[in-house]
Amino acid sequence: MSNTTLSEKTVVTRKPHDCWGCGESFPPGSKLRYIFSIWQDEPCSIYYCDLCDHLTDIDDCDEGYFEGDLAWTFAEYFGFDSVEEMRSAFDSGRRFECP
Ligand SMILES: [Zn+2]
Repeated sequence: MSNTTLSEKTVVTRKPHDCWGCGESFPPGSKLRYIFSIWQDEPCSIYYCDLCDHLTDIDDCDEGYFEGDLAWTFAEYFGFDSVEEMRSAFDSGRRFECP
């Protein structure tokens, strides 16, 4: 298993995209983190919303996540009942840290 990140940048989307971390769908014109990588010899491009981008920054556990699972894993971990609850805390300025 190998994963090589070739490019990573923040983009304003021209098409709707699902965030890989939370599975939520974001309309054109959203600001998303775009990551292009080679995953097991296949080119792979994924998008992260602000929240999930933040979550991947603090994720030093380096566990594998399935698509849409990242935000849920952290929501549970930080004691939120839903990803939406965590997102509104994040939107009002709360930042999360792994202990
Ligand atoms: Zn997300």
